[in-house]
Amino acid sequence: MTEESQKEKLRQHFARRVTTQARVVLDTWQKIHSDHTLAADHREELATAADKLVRYAQRFEMASHADAGQQVLTLMADWPAGEAPGEPLWPRLQEAMDQLGRCTLRRTDHQNSEAPQQYRRTPIYIALGNDEMSSRLIRQLEFFGFRASAFDNGDSLIEACALNKPETILMDVNFGGAANAGIATIERLQAQHDTPIPIIYVSEEDGSIETRLRASRSGGEEFFHPAVDPGQLIEKIETYTHGNAVEPYRVLVLDDSKAQAKYMETVLKKAGMTSHIITDPMQIIHALDAFSPEIIILDMYMPGCTGMEIARVIRQQDRFHSVPIIYLSAEDDISKQLHAMSLGGDDFLTKPIDPKHLIATLHNRGRRARSLLALMIRDSLTGLYNHTHTLHLLEQEIVRARKKDQPLCFAMIDIDYFKKVNDTFGHPIGDRVLRSLSMFLKQRLRKTDHIGRYGGEEFAIILPGTRLSDARNVLNEIRERFSELQQPAGDREFKVTFSCGVAAWRGESAQALCERADRALYVSKAQGRNCVNVADG
Ligand code: GH3
Ligand code: MG
Ligand code: MG
Repeated sequence: MTEESQKEKLRQHFARRVTTQARVVLDTWQKIHSDHTLAADHREELATAADKLVRYAQRFEMASHADAGQQVLTLMADWPAGEAPGEPLWPRLQEAMDQLGRCTLRRTDHQNSEAPQQYRRTPIYIALGNDEMSSRLIRQLEFFGFRASAFDNGDSLIEACALNKPETILMDVNFGGAANAGIATIERLQAQHDTPIPIIYVSEEDGSIETRLRASRSGGEEFFHPAVDPGQLIEKIETYTHGNAVEPYRVLVLDDSKAQAKYMETVLKKAGMTSHIITDPMQIIHALDAFSPEIIILDMYMPGCTGMEIARVIRQQDRFHSVPIIYLSAEDDISKQLHAMSLGGDDFLTKPIDPKHLIATLHNRGRRARSLLALMIRDSLTGLYNHTHTLHLLEQEIVRARKKDQPLCFAMIDIDYFKKVNDTFGHPIGDRVLRSLSMFLKQRLRKTDHIGRYGGEEFAIILPGTRLSDARNVLNEIRERFSELQQPAGDREFKVTFSCGVAAWRGESAQALCERADRALYVSKAQGRNCVNVADG
């Protein structure tokens, strides 16, 4: 059986578990419905069954069942214990049961048509054995656009991982009760997967080197001892989920041999990199501008010029001063290679190229180049673009908007009463709020938008191809959702709001556009904060 069909079988297995539980709910309701005098007696049974249904359906990602079950639970909150449900409640409960009946039927009738949309983004699994903490985390993670499920025993965690591999698991070292039982579960779990799942361990009691080693060997990427608050955990989870989705490296290849160029293209593609191939050295300037490579591979000998000469021309441009350059040639004369390196090359690969060697070199060079670049253009607290780079991007986007005759918006955000947050909860918690807003913006804006940390508690957002009314609506939605987010501070929680000003580009300079957005932000502050204003004149 292929891996896919195995998964499909498992999926059906779990789907049956959910539909069986849905039938338990429906049957219980049927009992109540057929004899109203039994209502009070069966109330508890119904609530327990519906609660179980919701948990199963969430875990196995059957959204319609989860919604219907949740609807039942919500209605039951108005049903006093020891009584029959009152008049407005009764028909509404019936409606919710009908809804549940319909999706249970649909599920069995068209098993396949519903399946795909039920398995959306990769989930995060939580195995903490602390219900309150787990549900607090799930609630928080949802705000950041994650889907998380909590587990109460090792077997169901392992089952769920087989069905749907999570991005990361948050695991209590002693999950299940016994010392190191959580690590033992992970060891069993990892044995079933080809590539290990990154684990974040928390341990209240045991921080010994033996335990830490065992945890690390089982795939533990982090070990928190003593256990930490949800804010810190969410930041870690964010690292592992975004860290996994590394953007492919952009590699420019210049080789006059079409066959060699084609071969390189195939190798790079297989390694998941984005390549741009040119065979004419005279195209180099155009290719640099159009493709903006992160790594450049140059053939050593070409008609008309050498790779070394091209490297020198590339290095003369500020933007590509530190981009890694790798030479390719049949040259095995070591002194010529050294000479080539002295002219601004980083590596020398000899043809015929071993694809493994090439890809390893590209990964190493690419990773280093990216981290150097990050130091220059990113803010270290939030990982967002810094002030200078944000302005640089705005200038670039203005050029693009002019050329393509497309709209462009710029927004400024400033956290409200942030000084008070620092004063009340301390500077580290203030920093945490800045990071939480940064994560929030990253999750909710498009990939094509640019987000920068403009200053202390000020952020700037560039929205290319966006009209003013759309930008305002998006930011207003983000403002509203962010204001609902509970910010953890030890055992306490608090909420933070921001004010925003948005301006649409009207053919002016970047500087003038920023000033208009800033004035709109000022209006929002003056109006009492926690609102979005657009710049007019
Ligand atoms: P308003 O609603 O008018 O914006 O009030 P505010 O308190 O947010 O504004 P104010 O400009 O008076 O204070 C900004 C505060 O932001 C003061 C400064 O200590 C704090 N801040 C700036 N950068 C950082 C940082 O990196 N970390 C932390 N924790 N605080 C910062
Ligand atoms: Mg400020
Ligand atoms: Mg402020």
